[in-house]
Amino acid sequence: MTLEVGAPPDGASNSLAGRVAAIRDRIAVVARDHGRAPDSVGLLGVTKSQPRDAVVLALEAGLADVGENYVQEARTKYAGLRACKHFIGHVQTNKAKAIVDVFDVVESIDRYEAGRAIGRASRALGKPIRTLVQINISPSERYGIDPSEASELASRLREEEGLDVDGVMAIGPLTRDRDAILRAFERAAGAFERVGGATLSLGMSGDFEEAIACGSTMVRLGTAIFGKRGVVQ
Ligand SMILES: *Cc1c(COP(=O)(O)O)cnc(C)c1O
Repeated sequence: MTLEVGAPPDGASNSLAGRVAAIRDRIAVVARDHGRAPDSVGLLGVTKSQPRDAVVLALEAGLADVGENYVQEARTKYAGLRACKHFIGHVQTNKAKAIVDVFDVVESIDRYEAGRAIGRASRALGKPIRTLVQINISPSERYGIDPSEASELASRLREEEGLDVDGVMAIGPLTRDRDAILRAFERAAGAFERVGGATLSLGMSGDFEEAIACGSTMVRLGTAIFGKRGVVQ
């Protein structure tokens, strides 16, 4: 069996470890360009629709953080793996216990009911959970609270025992207009300042350089690391 998973983006190294190393180098260069310490930007590997083998390879390549959108998909894929596991999908309150059981960080709290359900599950399972408030900065995005309401939601959630509200997550707009992306990311940075915490989870494969320019402390990369989803060579 070949351990190579996914099709590499054009010109990228053909091995997963090589791609992770090249991305880390690029993150460091962009961070320095904006007067930031290279280690101030973390790398989260988004493993959705990738097989467990790919996750194992990524962890061997030094990745410490991995993320999934669906709890069902993550449950078997992540079982027994030592990593910090991030839930980045929509929180359905009836799945809160399963989410808390599988994951360490829930990045996608976009309404009070979702946070309350995660808090309740956290207390029931005796497992503290780090959370982020997901804000909406893109017309094409379905989920996320309005940035102007983020700090109020964070304050309410901080009254819940077991929920460590550590910052903000956002998905950038689906556009090639770099200025529009930067404007959206500046809004996310503003919300992060008001919410407080240590984590601004911002930037995906197509826009992580703009995200770092705007203060992202964690980029979430899927295709840049693993190649196109659903392509297993
Ligand atoms: C899929 C996904 C990513 C990664 O997207 P890529 O474009 O493959 O890097 C990051 N964040 C969220 C919330 C996602 O759903």
